[in-house]
Amino acid sequence: MIAYIGLGSNLGDSFQYLQNAVTQLHQHDEICVTAVSPVYQSKPQGPQDQPDYLNAVVEIDTTLTAERLLKATQTIEQKNQRQRNGQHWGARTLDLDILLYGNHMINQQDLIVPHPWMHKRSFVLYPLRDIVTTLEFPNGKSLQACLKNNPDDDLIRIERQLVVRT
Ligand code: ATP
Ligand code: CA
Ligand code: CA
Repeated sequence: MIAYIGLGSNLGDSFQYLQNAVTQLHQHDEICVTAVSPVYQSKPQGPQDQPDYLNAVVEIDTTLTAERLLKATQTIEQKNQRQRNGQHWGARTLDLDILLYGNHMINQQDLIVPHPWMHKRSFVLYPLRDIVTTLEFPNGKSLQACLKNNPDDDLIRIERQLVVRT
């Protein structure tokens, strides 16, 4: 299954945390990272008293079910010092969100796919545009329309690139 994962960090060495995520996803026996977007810097959403974010999107090819993929991403977050302090949208070392899982629509208590906010987040839509081949989401939204509704004003594309190590 082809899936897209959103990567975010705004604590510690954020670039390194994003790189760890790419490496550790790819190291998983049942996940192959097939594309990596550029890294974008942006202002935090929600509480403003926290550092800027770095975000990227990766495309993966996986034999995991969506549920097991969620578990795998949460394990990687934990390995990278992700603390859940109760504050929604608070600062974090590493956040991995499942954006798309093939054309599946999933509505479970612990997993909603496509990710419920992706169509409103420039820091997801622009890196996704950089690597995606299909422009239609399974919920009927098109990437093109979403990009139009979400300007990239706040985004800075940084030069340093993430790498997939084999
Ligand atoms: P947001 O979801 O708005 O980006 P967040 O990433 O800060 O916020 P988290 O605290 O990382 O939220 O996750 C809260 C819960 O969201 C997780 O425990 C997970 O079960 C659930 N969740 C639902 N849908 C998804 C998804 N598509 N990808 C990852 N987690 C999801
Ligand atoms: Ca998130
Ligand atoms: Ca998350």
